[in-house]
Amino acid sequence: MEQVVIIRYGEIFLKGDNRAYFENLLLKNIRNTLSPLPCRLERIQGRLILNGFAEEDRPEILRRLQRVFGIHSISEGVRFPSDLERMKEISPDFVYGKTFRFTVNRADKRFPKPSMEVARELGGAVLAQRPDLKVDLHHPDCTVFLDIREDGNTYLYSRTLDCQRGMPYGCSGKGLLLLSGGIDSPVAGFSMARRGMKVEAVHFHSFPYTSVQAREKVLELGRILKDYCGGEMKVYVVSFTQIQQAIHKHCRDSFMITIMRRFMMRIANRLARECGAQAILTGESLGQVASQTPESIASTDSVSELPVFRPLIAEDKQDIVAVAKRIGTFETSILPYEDCCTVFLPKNPVIHPKLHQVEQEEAKLDVEALTAQALASLEVETL
Ligand code: ATP
Ligand code: MG
Repeated sequence: MEQVVIIRYGEIFLKGDNRAYFENLLLKNIRNTLSPLPCRLERIQGRLILNGFAEEDRPEILRRLQRVFGIHSISEGVRFPSDLERMKEISPDFVYGKTFRFTVNRADKRFPKPSMEVARELGGAVLAQRPDLKVDLHHPDCTVFLDIREDGNTYLYSRTLDCQRGMPYGCSGKGLLLLSGGIDSPVAGFSMARRGMKVEAVHFHSFPYTSVQAREKVLELGRILKDYCGGEMKVYVVSFTQIQQAIHKHCRDSFMITIMRRFMMRIANRLARECGAQAILTGESLGQVASQTPESIASTDSVSELPVFRPLIAEDKQDIVAVAKRIGTFETSILPYEDCCTVFLPKNPVIHPKLHQVEQEEAKLDVEALTAQALASLEVETL
């Protein structure tokens, strides 16, 4: 008898001719994340079987698999040569709760008994050992699955863990994420990575108005995201201080945030072009703050050549927080270090900026020189 983990993939099934491509990418991503832990990965019709791992590695293997995009669910189980007596010996250990049933799939038509009969005999064997249990075919606490395969092996399992679903990381191009130290942007990065998009990030700081800790916090968020992003995360760190000072000095206070966001977008576009990203990603959510109205978003987008993806645009804060907690970014996001957006914050930001007014205000600045200067401060952190 061999310990196995059965890995099921969901959506990539639907991809017709591209299926082999998606499958291979998923396989590569799984191999990559499990590379420090010795094990073997086999493909059987529409599933992957992991075996040959050390018992003490099992919790870490399950933890890592639960972060791989494209995996639908996993089950811990065993594999052994198909034989009814062996099934009877092994299956009681897989029953939990008070009521149970067996579900048998007999792909191997050479197996001498039909599935219903196998299920009945196994149920009888369990009850003989555990008279306190009951069979419940409709709402059991526990379903024990037996898959009698054509290759002469039976797979047996009862516990299934839900995984991330989504698409294999790397199958949907690359996006450059505007990463602040807040709650939203790491969740936005996670959401796009879950659709298969490679993610790199850019962070703007206003040192010395923002602290070294604020920057360290953002890098820590990058490190957490990295686990979902193929084990690697690049963060482009750009100084925003001079831009903010210039806006503060020359432009009407109420346009501060609007103009800042246009600078962020221009710089992000330049970096994206250099790193081969096809989209800019942000954590904006409609109506959350003054800069997240349709007019503000239009004013930001009008300086972007690349499409801007805002996966959280229609999400409620509470739901975003729930995801942040689940993926492990929340605790870091709420550390109390200031973001560059909170420096020079105007008392009354324009909520519905008119594009011609924004452009008028911005015309007071040497946009190109300020952009170039900020880009000259670029530091690249590979996490
Ligand atoms: P978050 O929780 O992601 O910080 P927020 O609700 O605080 O979002 P804003 O501060 O208006 O909202 O920022 C909106 C988006 O702009 C962020 O989600 C992020 O994508 C981007 N952004 C804000 N500040 C920065 C920064 N310092 N560096 C990079 N991107 C930023
Ligand atoms: Mg913020």
